[in-house]
Order: sequence, then C-alpha cells, then structure tokens
Amino acid sequence: MNSAKRSLSCACFALLLLLFSFAQADDARNQPQKLSATPHAASHAKPSKSKITVLTTTTMITDLVKQLGGQHVTVNGLMAPGVDPHLYKASARDVNKFQQADMIIYNGWHLEGKLTELLANMQRSGKTVVAIVDAIPPKDRIDSVDYPGNYDPHIWLSIDNWMAVTRFVSDQLIAYDTVNEAEYVRLRDRYLGELNQLKIRIQQQIDTLPIEKRILVTAHDAFQYFGRAHQFQVVGLQGINTASEASIKDVQRLADFIVAQNIPAIFIESAIPVRNIKALQAAVHARGGAVKIGGELYADSLGQPTATDINHNDNDNSNNNSNNANKANKANETNATPPDVGTYVGMYLHNVNTIVQALSMQLSMH
Ligand SMILES: [Zn+2]
Repeated sequence: MNSAKRSLSCACFALLLLLFSFAQADDARNQPQKLSATPHAASHAKPSKSKITVLTTTTMITDLVKQLGGQHVTVNGLMAPGVDPHLYKASARDVNKFQQADMIIYNGWHLEGKLTELLANMQRSGKTVVAIVDAIPPKDRIDSVDYPGNYDPHIWLSIDNWMAVTRFVSDQLIAYDTVNEAEYVRLRDRYLGELNQLKIRIQQQIDTLPIEKRILVTAHDAFQYFGRAHQFQVVGLQGINTASEASIKDVQRLADFIVAQNIPAIFIESAIPVRNIKALQAAVHARGGAVKIGGELYADSLGQPTATDINHNDNDNSNNNSNNANKANKANETNATPPDVGTYVGMYLHNVNTIVQALSMQLSMH
C-alpha cells in the first residue's frame, strides 16, 4: 500500500471510530457527575476491565496521573520528553489513542494549541475530557501578555498550583472509579506530602539568592508562575507561545536589559532550540557584557527519566564508570545524586538548582 493510501485508510478508520463514539455518547456522558450516585454507577462506567485507561498530553500530566492512579490506572502519555506541546500535532495513530482512552487529561488554555479541535471532538463524542487548568482558582491565574483575554497556561511551574491540580485530578479519578476511592485518597495524600517537602526544600535554596539577583531570562515566557511564587522577575525571549519567533528587535532589547542589569546567566530550555539564546548571548557580548549560559531548564516538558537500574547510592566516587561519567560529574558539582528530571519533583529540583547556582555566580566574583 502506498503512503497516501495508507494515510487515507488511517483517516477513514479514525472517522469510523469517531462515529462509533458519537453513537455511544449518551452512555458515557457526564461520568464525573456520577460521583454523587451509588458506587454501582461508577462500575457501570468501566464494565469490561478492571483498570481505567487515561490518555495524558504533556509529560508533567503523565507523571502526575501515574503518581495518583497507581495500579488502577493505565497511563498513555501522548508526548515524549523534550516535545514542545505548543507545536504538537496529532497523527492518525494519536486519534486512535484518544479514542481508546476512558478519560483524557490535558492542560488547557491553548497550551496544546494544535490539538484544540481533536479535544473538542472527543468532548462532543461524550468522552470524559478534563482540563487541569480548571483546578486553578481565578485569583491565582496569570493573564497572558501576548494573548489578551487568555491566561498563561504554564501553571505547573508553581508548586501550589500543582498541589491544586493534584487534588483536582484525584477527584476526577475517584468520580470515575468510586470503588477504589480509598486507594486514590492514599496516593493523593502521599504525593501532596512529597510536594510539600519539595516546596520547603527549594525555598531554602532560593532564600540564599538575594531578591535583586532574582532575574530569570529564559528562551520563552514560561516561568511567570514560578516568578510569582519565588519572587523572580521573569523575562522570556519568545512570548508565551513558542510558535511565534523572537525578532531581532526582541534580541536587541533583551541584550540591552541584560547588560544594564549586569545579569550573570541566561537559560536554555529543553524543548526549544538553543539558537535564540545563543544569539542573545552573542548580542550581550557585542555590547561588552559577559553573560553565561546558566544551564538547561525544563519548562514545557520533563526530561528523560533516570533508568531504574542505575545505582543510586551516594558512593559514585568509586572509579572509572565511564558510562556514568556525566552523571557523576553533575553529582560532584551538587554533592548529591542528580534529581530524576523524568518526574515533576526532579524537574523542579533541577530547575531551582540550576537557577540558583548560575545566578549566584557573580556574587562570589565581585
Ligand atoms: Zn510554553
């Protein structure tokens, strides 16, 4: 079969699935509302299998649902580590994955801008479709600078927000699967405890950085919630949406700002090409400034998970373990095992370690 035919037949299959789901719409509609009904109503929601299948869009949401669902949930993460959710387009195979899920959990506020139509179709077809931004109370929402009338979708870069999302997503799982409520509550409380520990730990680190040094220049404008939570002034080279390119004017303006403020470091982001930040660094150097690349931050995607078979002991000064040379170097720098950036908690620790270390640089030099 040639590829045009193949994609046509994929598209037909997807359409058939969609039509099938419309036929089932009445059965599946409004499942979360069944929370108030008897436990029998919830078991009616998933008659033929013991596990809920949840499709998640971003890597942050995938990690969260794994933490909260435990053995009762099969999590299908749509996006791989390093994928930019602003630009992600669904393939015919993805449509199939959406269709097979019992529940779809996505971010919302146009983070997954290219999936809007597909998500709307799924919702119309009667599937349980959950936007995690609904967990954020109006007073805690940050307006988008680039898109008036919209909110900034990067809500996960505040731990308080993520705790609200944790409670919200757990409630959704319980609503769908009331029978296992006790286990969902146990997993939720365990994870909230972990997030609370994270909050205390990173605040101690951030407290070592004077307020006037808290200026965060990154590849795109993802860190506004982080900035508000930890009193950083945040400047992104690109706007909130990575689909819009930074102009030469943006680079010039920001280079002037960095020189004027004597900012020691700027940051690259894992899901965004390095060239823009490199161009910014070059523009600062051309003005006689000396800004460094402070390291890589995880904004719109988690990193690759640390393999579980790697030895996590602290005695990695053993000897020529060349495979892990990079890891060992990093560990020596921070005097600890590097955080697993494949998890939300590890991602946040990594970001704060990287930011505090890089922005502290100048303090010891002057
Ligand atoms: Zn973004």
